[in-house]
Amino acid sequence: MVKRPTTFLDSLITQRHLRPESVADGPGEVYFLLEKVIAGNIIVAKLGMTTDFDRRFDEHERICPQTGRLDLWRKEVPYRRRTEALLHLYLEDICVDRPRVICSSCGRKHIELFKFHSNQLQSVLSFLDSLVPSLT
Ligand SMILES: [Zn+2]
Repeated sequence: MVKRPTTFLDSLITQRHLRPESVADGPGEVYFLLEKVIAGNIIVAKLGMTTDFDRRFDEHERICPQTGRLDLWRKEVPYRRRTEALLHLYLEDICVDRPRVICSSCGRKHIELFKFHSNQLQSVLSFLDSLVPSLT
């Protein structure tokens, strides 16, 4: 699946903002990992959430080994599921592509991956920094 049009993502973002927090939601961290670099100037990044980053990172390493995986950004939030869902939509809008293909490393289909140009990286991290406090 490729990224969806901005107008459609905007309506999903509006709907998600209006939805109350689920009882399963609560405090945790959202994180942004570099997964790999493709063809020199395209990066694949993952946006996820967890209540225990170290445990989750080890899980990623075990289940889907990537030699280039790096912890690029993290933020503690009061509602981790809600924040993750919103960030997925916001990132889909600014990414080059949101690939949903079978992973060559682990054979799974990841849904949390986003492709960016490597020269977008600093602005994506700044975007996350400025956006996340407003989502809670
Ligand atoms: Zn994988």
